[in-house]
Amino acid sequence: MDFPPIREELRGLEPYGAPQLDVPVQLNTNENPYGPSAACADDIAAAVREAALTLNRYPDREHVALRAALAAYLSRDTPHGVTPDQVWAANGSNEVMLQLLQAFGGPGRTAMSFAPTYSMYPEYARDTSTTWVQGRRAEDFSLDLDAAREAVERERPSVVLLPSPNNPTGTALPPEAVGLLCKAAASYEPGGLVVVDEAYGEFRRSGVPSAVELLPTYRNLVVTRTMSKAFAAAGLRLGYLAADPAICDAIRVVRLPYHLSAVTQAAALAALRHAPELLGRVDELRAERDGCVDWLREQGLTVADSDANFVLFGTFADRHAVWQGLLDRGVLIREVGPDGWLRVSIGTADEMMAFKQAMTEVMQTVA
Ligand code: PMP
Repeated sequence: MDFPPIREELRGLEPYGAPQLDVPVQLNTNENPYGPSAACADDIAAAVREAALTLNRYPDREHVALRAALAAYLSRDTPHGVTPDQVWAANGSNEVMLQLLQAFGGPGRTAMSFAPTYSMYPEYARDTSTTWVQGRRAEDFSLDLDAAREAVERERPSVVLLPSPNNPTGTALPPEAVGLLCKAAASYEPGGLVVVDEAYGEFRRSGVPSAVELLPTYRNLVVTRTMSKAFAAAGLRLGYLAADPAICDAIRVVRLPYHLSAVTQAAALAALRHAPELLGRVDELRAERDGCVDWLREQGLTVADSDANFVLFGTFADRHAVWQGLLDRGVLIREVGPDGWLRVSIGTADEMMAFKQAMTEVMQTVA
């Protein structure tokens, strides 16, 4: 053996990731099915060309212009406004959350969430040697707030990860949840951060405000967002957070130098200038989602209420057979979530038609 084995706790593990298959209808990774227009692509290309002329230099380590643009974008969600020093960005919100655990987790500390939830959370904990504790969601995938508060007070985590809407169930947190859990996480020494992961925030049904509004009230609150979903820019790899400036400063200690390339920064800034266009299909996708929920229920299936751009449905004695049957018909969805359930991302009207057609056929063959 001329090199050491992989770390003990990683031995035998598979890398995270959905199958990347070249099929006509891809409804498996919660992407926005609508790409940018030619005008938007041209603007991004021009911005990247400009950046290319200075590629001999390292990029702006503090990504100041991008943080200002993201702060302006987030300020639409709160009467209090968001300042650039409250914002931090990285290569996807996955990297943002890993950086949070690098800075605030670690050996002897605990991170927690409530299952079923996003399966990357335990991986951030594992990779930062943070103890992972998982509570449970209720039968309908909502969070039992009293039980969650008690679990936080008992486990005293340094970081609580709370997606809203939750992946893979689509469940949004009720407005009172964030304040309640921020207070619970501030009730012990030295306290915990509450990270509200709003990767799918823009798809929420009306009435539930963004947790961004609560930033001035709770210093231990962090809200993460991404350009990967509603913003239709998954390929860009740009996620960000809003929090107290001291939290951003702490992350600056652990981030790799120049982690956001000049190309990424330029492309993200250009994409943000086209926010109205890139977000323009969100209403349509919400309507398509609600139609999908209704249709699946009409087929006699159990469907979780969804505030996201995906729907969790079931239950199947052999969910893999259903997944495979759909794939055989050119429709790729995701085999994820509790036993017996499947998740479909919301695509274009045509893609959803193809999904429904394929489901109808598969349900006739698979019990
Ligand atoms: N949070 C949740 C709940 C997600 O589902 C995802 C993507 N699947 C992410 C964060 C990470 O997205 P990205 O790194 O593309 O920003």
